[in-house]
Amino acid sequence: MLIVKKFGGSSVADKERIFRVAKRCIEDYRAGNDVVVVLSAMGDTTDELLAKAKDINPNATKRELDMLLTTGEQISVSLMAMAMNSLGVPAISLNAFQVEMHSTSCYGNARFKKIDSERIQHELDSKKIVVVTGFQGVNKYEDYTTLGRGGSDTTAVAIAAALHADSCEIYTDVDGIYTADPRVVPNARKLTEISYDEMLELASLGARVLHNRSVEMAKKYGVQLVVRSSLNRTEGTIVKEVVKMEKLLVSGVATDKNTARISVIGIEDKPGVAFRIFNTLARKNINVDIILQSVGRDGTKDISFTVAEDDITDAIRILEENKEALTIKEIKHKEDVAKLSIVGAGMMSNPGVAAQMFEALYNAGVNINMISTSEIRITVLVDEHDIDRAMRAVHDGFGLGD
Ligand code: ADP
Ligand code: ASP
Ligand code: MG
Repeated sequence: MLIVKKFGGSSVADKERIFRVAKRCIEDYRAGNDVVVVLSAMGDTTDELLAKAKDINPNATKRELDMLLTTGEQISVSLMAMAMNSLGVPAISLNAFQVEMHSTSCYGNARFKKIDSERIQHELDSKKIVVVTGFQGVNKYEDYTTLGRGGSDTTAVAIAAALHADSCEIYTDVDGIYTADPRVVPNARKLTEISYDEMLELASLGARVLHNRSVEMAKKYGVQLVVRSSLNRTEGTIVKEVVKMEKLLVSGVATDKNTARISVIGIEDKPGVAFRIFNTLARKNINVDIILQSVGRDGTKDISFTVAEDDITDAIRILEENKEALTIKEIKHKEDVAKLSIVGAGMMSNPGVAAQMFEALYNAGVNINMISTSEIRITVLVDEHDIDRAMRAVHDGFGLGD
């Protein structure tokens, strides 16, 4: 069997944990399997590197940031290979350049284009455990890129797809995928399995247990994922195409605090204005999420929308620069807001779900700022100081807890 095992930052945070992971991988190796290990940077390394960069230059280019951030994963893979070697097992560490993991050029948010399997296969054939850097790629300028925060999951899935691995295991600091973040909702329940579509929604809406692109890619290439703990042997959660369990109305709740709201006030109420506003933002790579337009009055209207909090300064600057052309009278913004979403394939054919969610929020005294829905998801925007309480109320409101 060819097994891809990915370990997150907390799983390799110190010497003891590195050796624990090394031993776990060696077990599979000694059982006769080919083993590829994908690692994140140790502990909070990525955050610490970002803080260092900010201290030197708050406006550092994304290229230089990626050059810096990719060093984090290089530390963990080399130390892991050394640990395995010290336990008498042949192991080799490889980075994105050595494997030839080609990505798009977008620094800080690159996507894989092609992963070369030759080098990894060659090392596996010579009976080594191969330890690969997560989170990084190389673009057409031969520069390092990163895949966005949490991107090591995507590296693992991409390698599993490229090598046609028999299994892709994502090891983390919780026992699997829960109905809500178990750190915020103590009675959250661990799911035995979840479908790609539901997991993709949860991951995109803020459940950081899996990088959303990793789920997208797993679905595309039919890679079945197992999410489980690196600290114990408990069975984890399987992410796959169809889930045989009885469909729950709601399978999970997710929150995203990295959200801000912008309102453009007094814009002309005529065709093409909304197009020009959102096109201007899109051309500058600003992703817009929930959009709410007021009913026009006296020839003008207002539009409110959410963006990632990281993008708020850029978004406002771009709108200010184009204020007249976009007929905007006033721009307002609010950063202390957060998104709360419920996800479930079962809600597709069930009309009462939104009302049930709003009732739970009403009972908890939480005010809703904006609402957006899709076939298998309902998202509301609430004040950030309400978010954890709102999550617990909605989770309990649907009876998801243990
Ligand atoms: P790693 O470093 O292993 O990649 P992450 O911090 O990226 O770990 O992801 C694991 C974290 O995701 C957990 O510690 C947990 O707090 C959070 N999380 C959010 N939503 C969920 C969920 N629905 N199920 C499990 N964990 C979740
Ligand atoms: N080290 C990177 C991060 O902190 C990638 C990852 O953890 O998946 O975002
Ligand atoms: Mg992660």
